[in-house]
Amino acid sequence: MQLYFLALLVMVVSLVIQFWLKATVSKWSKVSAGTRFTANDAVRCMFRENDINNIEILAKGGSLTDCYSPNEGRIYLSEPVYNQNSVAAIAVAAHECGHAIQDKKGIAIYRFRQALAVPAGFCSQAGVYIAMVGLMLMGAGYLLGESVLNFGIIMYMVTFLFYVAMVPVEIDASRRGLKAIKENGFISEEYIGGARSVLTAAGSTYVISMVSAGVTLLRLLAMRGNGRRR
Ligand SMILES: [Zn+2]
Repeated sequence: MQLYFLALLVMVVSLVIQFWLKATVSKWSKVSAGTRFTANDAVRCMFRENDINNIEILAKGGSLTDCYSPNEGRIYLSEPVYNQNSVAAIAVAAHECGHAIQDKKGIAIYRFRQALAVPAGFCSQAGVYIAMVGLMLMGAGYLLGESVLNFGIIMYMVTFLFYVAMVPVEIDASRRGLKAIKENGFISEEYIGGARSVLTAAGSTYVISMVSAGVTLLRLLAMRGNGRRR
């Protein structure tokens, strides 16, 4: 029962973080960086500095849809970011560029996260369903049930591990982005704090996702405990 409340609490915190992120991005999207740089200039400059010359910069519809796609060799910048000069636009673009640099440099935790991306996506729902089937089999008195449940839990652990790896990867990308912003003067000094708050708010969404996956894992483990006692 306590786990149920914990899951509810995580959901509420997650909503608050989404709201905070939107408000922070909206605020700093209206503030000009106070320099001649656009988000695209910042990306090109960071690419040059890091010897990256095979990545395209493309516009993508919607907001907060920015991403680095290693498979396509592209950086997608959302409408409020692409070619824009706001503090938020440059902060987001520099962060995405941070991922391209992680990829280029072959940073271990980035590679680990990339390797887990596909299995984690598959395991997140399948793991829970398989665990439920295992639980039902256990309830019906089948010995096999516990093995099925354990298999589901192990699958979900892959998903949890992916979320855990995500946090340092995101923090590192923001750190690289902010460093480049400061060193190259993409954003005038008085607004660097704004760039940092945009990236902190964005980073918090990954922390809460990790906590949420952790709570789901705990709930599965608790179900296993209950199933065994019966
Ligand atoms: Zn990121």
